[in-house]
This record gives sequence, C-alpha cells and structure tokens, in this order.
Amino acid sequence: MSVTAPAISSFTPPRRTLMGPGPSDVPQRILDAMARPTIGHLDPAFCDMMEQTKSLLRYALRTENKLTFPVSGPGSVGMETCFVNLVEPGDKVIVCVNGVFGGRMLENVKRCGGVPVTVDDAWGRAVDPAKVEAAFAAHPDAKILAFVHAETSTGALSDAAALAAVARRHGALSIMDCVTSLGGTPVMIDAWGIDAAYSGSQKCLSCTPGLSPVTFSEAAIAKVRARRTPVQSWFMDLNLVLGYWSGEGKRTYHHTAPINPLYGLHEALVMLAEEGIDNAWARHRAMHEALKTGLEGMGLTFLVPADERLPQLNSVRLPAGIDDAACRARLLNEFDLEIGAGLGVLAGQIWRIGLMGASASRHNVDYCLKALAAVLGKH
Ligand SMILES: *Cc1c(COP(=O)(O)O)cnc(C)c1O
Repeated sequence: MSVTAPAISSFTPPRRTLMGPGPSDVPQRILDAMARPTIGHLDPAFCDMMEQTKSLLRYALRTENKLTFPVSGPGSVGMETCFVNLVEPGDKVIVCVNGVFGGRMLENVKRCGGVPVTVDDAWGRAVDPAKVEAAFAAHPDAKILAFVHAETSTGALSDAAALAAVARRHGALSIMDCVTSLGGTPVMIDAWGIDAAYSGSQKCLSCTPGLSPVTFSEAAIAKVRARRTPVQSWFMDLNLVLGYWSGEGKRTYHHTAPINPLYGLHEALVMLAEEGIDNAWARHRAMHEALKTGLEGMGLTFLVPADERLPQLNSVRLPAGIDDAACRARLLNEFDLEIGAGLGVLAGQIWRIGLMGASASRHNVDYCLKALAAVLGKH
C-alpha cells in the first residue's frame, strides 16, 4: 500500500447567498467569534460563557425555565432529546402531521415505544386545533401532544398557543418543534404553556448548524424524574446531561462540548438581544412583505393561505413548464444563490425561499428577485 499522501489542499468554499430552508447566511461577526482560541470545556471562563448562553436562550425563548440549554447536535438531536426523555413505552402521544417534520415526530414516538395517535392536516396548512380537541376526546388517556410550530417543509405556521391550551385542558404535556420559528416569529414558551421545545442554531438565529437549544418546564422534568424505565439513549438522558449543564454544584464531564460552535451561538444570541427580539420578528415580517410583493409581481403564487404563512419560509408554486432542477442550478451557478426545493409530496412542485436571520435583509430580497427574474425570463 502506498504511503503517498493524497494531493489535496485546503478547502475554500464559494461565497453563497443562502435563501433556502437553512442554513441561513452567517454574519462575519459570528464566524469571527468561532475562530477565537479553544479553551477547556470545564474552564471556569467557559462555564461563565455557558451560563450567559442559557440566559440569552431564555430571553430568545421567552421563558423562565431553568432547564434551558443548547444540546450538542443539530435540531434533530434536540428533537430526539425531547422524545426519548418524555415518551416512555406505552405512553399515548397525539402527533400532529402537516409536513415532513411532523412525520419525524411520529417516527420518534414509535421508536420510543410510544403509542401514536396522528392528527393529519394537508401539507401547506396549519394544524387544526379542533381536530386536536377531537383526538383528545377520543383518547382521554393521551399524555403528550406533539406538534411543529413552523413547518419548514411547507411554510405553514400553526397556532401554538391554541394547541398547547388544548393539551393543558386535557392534562397532557406539549412538545413543540420551534426550529424554524425561534428568532423569526414569536415563540412564547411560558405565555403559551409549552412543556418541552427544541430549536436549531442555523435557521433564524443565523449561526452555523450543529447546536439545538432546548427548554423544559417543571412539569416536563417531573415526568422525566418519574420514569419507570431508564432513558434508552445514554447521550441524551437529561439526568446525565444536567450534571454538565446545570449551574449548581460542580460540573462533571459528560461529553466534550463543541467549544467553538458554542462561541458562535453565544455571539448570535448577543446579536439577537442587541437588535431586540421583537425588532427581529418585525424585520422578518417586513422582508416577507417585500419579497411577496416582488414574487406576486412575477406571477408566482403562494402554497400557504395568507393567515397561516411563515414570513421566514416562503413556499411558491413552480410556474408551468419550468424545470425545477435546471433553474435552481442556474441560481447557484450564475448568482451564487441557494433556494430550497420541495420536499416529500411537494418535490418538484414548489420552491422554498428562506428569509431567516441575517438572510432576512433588504439586500437579499432585492438580489433574490433579480436572480429569479433573470432565470424565469422576466424583467
Ligand atoms: C431544520 C429543521 C429540523 C431539523 O434540524 P437539523 O438541524 O437539520 O437537524 C427540525 N424541524 C424543523 C421544523 C426544521 O426546519
């Protein structure tokens, strides 16, 4: 066997404008924060930074929950952390499915040995609280309601306050996916009475992928503590993770935290606090309005009804006779612009144009409209 090293040199990525379903454009200030010196993950300076990150996350999630921290892993790991801890074998869980990510929740419930009851809504529509109410009436023993707040596969926003209220009325806990909503649209954990939620770093927080903010209410923690069976995942068992993330007492080694990515998340959250979260919500809304005016001016139509639409994820139908893959390739090659394709049953039917975090800017809106006009042969 040859001992010659492969002739490969450093990787320099192209400079893209990211207007898909995530990741979004990462500001240089966040990349700079991530390039700072790596220190030990038990270093007192690092622990101070972790405490600040938890405070900043409570601000972003509008919660007083003590158990609020970033899981080391992408949004999918935050999702699994919620399900493996809260769902015990035999637990009945009402799962709302109106797109790809609701389907993943369903898969999680099954793998945890839970008994799923699905509430289906059309892809492109919000979850219907009346159907959830009916599911609880038919299954009064359901212990948990799980739903996606912002369905990134379709661009639909559900009424999380109404859904959580239904769960509470029936004595059930709620698990909410707020991966795409956090930072872009109001997420009010305490006001809505959400028991467990998970998000992601690379959508409206505009950080790099790989971290998943999670938060748990006292009622959720009580359910984890009352488990009859151990959590089947060692890595995601909250009882163990807490020894590292909780502020009280001595921190113990659980896993090596991704130090530099956490610098990035800290910086992203500082930037959100500087802007003010309500200003960030208003900016996403204003950029959505500007993009919508331009898209509709080109004759494009939205998949989701206006009052159920996510400002940060715009799903528009492909015009007739347009080659999906060829158009997106032109956007990427000629304009360095990434937009999202349709997923699942919507593949080939829609484009998903993201306005997440730093990507929700006037510059990006104008640039995207110009590039689309060129590719679609409009002016
Ligand atoms: C992106 C996304 C996820 C998964 O996050 P990853 O970081 O890709 O694992 C989950 N739910 C929703 C709604 C998402 O948009």
